Amino acid sequence: MTGIVVLGSTNMDLVAYVPKAPQRGETVTGREFRTVPGGKGANQAVAAARAGGEVAMIGAVGTDDFGVVLRETLEHSAVDTDLLRTAEGPSGTAHIVVDDEGGNAIVVIPGANGTVDHLTPGDETLIAAADALLLQLELPLAGVIAGAEAAHRHGVRTVLTPSPAQPLPPELLAVTDLLVPNEHEAALLTGIADPRAAAEALLRQVPQVVITLGAAGSLHAARGAEPVTVPAPRVRAVDTTAAGDTFVGVLTVALVEGRPMPEAMAWASTAAALSVQRAGASSSMPYRPEIDAGRLEGATGG
Ligand code: AMP
Repeated sequence: MTGIVVLGSTNMDLVAYVPKAPQRGETVTGREFRTVPGGKGANQAVAAARAGGEVAMIGAVGTDDFGVVLRETLEHSAVDTDLLRTAEGPSGTAHIVVDDEGGNAIVVIPGANGTVDHLTPGDETLIAAADALLLQLELPLAGVIAGAEAAHRHGVRTVLTPSPAQPLPPELLAVTDLLVPNEHEAALLTGIADPRAAAEALLRQVPQVVITLGAAGSLHAARGAEPVTVPAPRVRAVDTTAAGDTFVGVLTVALVEGRPMPEAMAWASTAAALSVQRAGASSSMPYRPEIDAGRLEGATGG
């Protein structure tokens, strides 16, 4: 049976690299254009599959050419797309302008993702047989809640990445087993800047939290246990796009395999550290042998 199901978004990122972003009414000539398959759901699915998870994706692509590429990108990393719908109309797109200072401005148009506001009976059957369900907030909230509730009904562990950051409805928190915000999202959700204190506040709403801290690693907190911080390997980061998605996808593979949380976090941070050393989103994600080799290196390096 399928180990990990991802209920989430697929987007084609359309990235324009410009010296300086245009102001309203202005036209600028850019340097370069890239199309990069992404979407938080698809990124987490690819990360988990490459790390050795058996992964299926529930979501929707459009009837445009992007839809074909988005589906193929998942299949290329051995993600099962049998329940990835094709919805009449455009695929989700993210229109990204990156300037020379590394700043960016982004317009996301949900497209087909916007149709995933409910589960089909087939979706529920797949979720019921899974070990874990991964969720983010790039689908309509109604779809995310329906997925999490279905998982909860069937005793399937739910892992929620609260991104893009927004207030979380109580009915979603009630069926979230593990919440994985980054430190900005944790601060936004709680109004508390300190990650340790934010984690404590979040534990009033969910039983377990892992807050990712960028180059500083990650912090685990669970009810009735001392919080644990696991450092990230020291690397030279060239592109942190999808570092968080890599972390969550790989973390879930380790948890589904029954490995203890600190070990799962260390393994996930090795994978994320490998991904930030290369440009790209899902294209930069490591495969399992590379993650295992990285872990050994980290261990011998102290
Ligand atoms: P973030 O979403 O920035 O918190 O990053 C998610 C995870 O990616 C972190 O918990 C780290 O494991 C890893 N990561 C992100 N940035 C870096 C970095 N500069 N160096 C090493 N690991 C990183």
